[in-house]
Amino acid sequence: MSKEDLECSFCGRKKSETKLLIAGLDAHICDRCIEQAHGIVVEEALHSDNSELSKDLMLKKPKLIKAFLDEYVIGQDFTKKVMSVAVYNHYKRLLQPKSDDDIEIQKSNIVIVGQTGTGKTLIAKTIAKMLNVPLAIVDATVLTEAGYVGEDVEGILTRLLQAADYNLEKAEKGIVFIDEIDKIARKSDNPSITRDVSGEGVQQALLKLLEGTTVNVPPKGGRKHPDQKFIEVNTENILFIAGGAFDGIERHISKRLNMQAVGFTATLKETQIEKDNMLRYIIPKDLKDFGLIPEIIGRLPVLTYMNPLDKETLRAILTEPKNAIIKQYKKLFEMDGIDFEITEEALDFIVEQAIEYKLGARGLRSLCEAVLTDAMYEMPGTDEKLVKVTRDYADEKLNKSTLKKLKAVS
Ligand code: ADP
Repeated sequence: MSKEDLECSFCGRKKSETKLLIAGLDAHICDRCIEQAHGIVVEEALHSDNSELSKDLMLKKPKLIKAFLDEYVIGQDFTKKVMSVAVYNHYKRLLQPKSDDDIEIQKSNIVIVGQTGTGKTLIAKTIAKMLNVPLAIVDATVLTEAGYVGEDVEGILTRLLQAADYNLEKAEKGIVFIDEIDKIARKSDNPSITRDVSGEGVQQALLKLLEGTTVNVPPKGGRKHPDQKFIEVNTENILFIAGGAFDGIERHISKRLNMQAVGFTATLKETQIEKDNMLRYIIPKDLKDFGLIPEIIGRLPVLTYMNPLDKETLRAILTEPKNAIIKQYKKLFEMDGIDFEITEEALDFIVEQAIEYKLGARGLRSLCEAVLTDAMYEMPGTDEKLVKVTRDYADEKLNKSTLKKLKAVS
């Protein structure tokens, strides 16, 4: 067969009709067929990504999601349960085949109320890790309405795109954690007297995003790159989790409960409201009284709360989670061939210090760092192969240096 008689084994085009004809063992393929085949491969890959997610999720029923969370987050059982169901439902909604029964499952965006440092971000991070979806963590305080100094709400999606390595498909199934949502609350209960433009304006701007819309997103974010091309992001399948401390919301809750108590004194006395965790009685109306607009509350239908961390929880956080702080130090020392031991009393002491200086769970790390810096600095490269941290050792190290600084922070 002459060279000119060769043809593509897939589409039958003669060599002269192609730009390129590549020879295989017994067959040839032309440039067009290669391109087409490439398209099919890409398409397939995307679909298999999806089915991976669906397979994963179908395996991970709510109880399994909760079990996964249990490995990383101590306590907070109620929130872990509520979130497991919300996340499961969200992704079920995402995977639902188009049906004609008119039942449209709505988004299960979540709002978590709880003091700072109780694990709100940690839960969002853990869920994103489990689902292997991109996560953007944004601070509501930096958001402003378009035209004001600060970050437009679209910036949230820029972050998500970046977290997804600009893979639009992945970003559109990602999770956004909006921290400090309480800071954009309207400052006054009475909108007609004081219109708090900044807070309420941002809430308004967030509405569409939470609900599901298509937004033109500047991929590099901000207004610094005016000529960048926009990327269209659809937020329909993005799960939004909002978190906030809502300082003082307890007052609204107790006011409401007391008002109810006028009518239902007996039942209320029976339930013995615990003063230390009023949050467990929270309902959407309390968020409204705090200053979130009803539309925002409607778009964050899953409401849950975090418990304050008590001594036992802090103690467990040190050693129990899969990547617990103490396990991390053990590993760090191990890499230098050093055994790391810490006594129960020393652990209790660190927890006491965290409580005394009101450092919460975040402080545990700084405290450990303060106790261990000397050892981590001096021991590598020497013959000493054991660090044993006792209560006295920890006390001495803390007194020597960083404790004073920590005191200043608190
Ligand atoms: P929040 O978002 O509520 O302010 P974070 O999730 O950022 O708090 O928590 C700060 C750190 O404290 C986390 O990185 C984690 O190490 C630790 N932490 C807080 N709460 C818990 C918890 N319930 N279980 C395990 N670790 C926790």
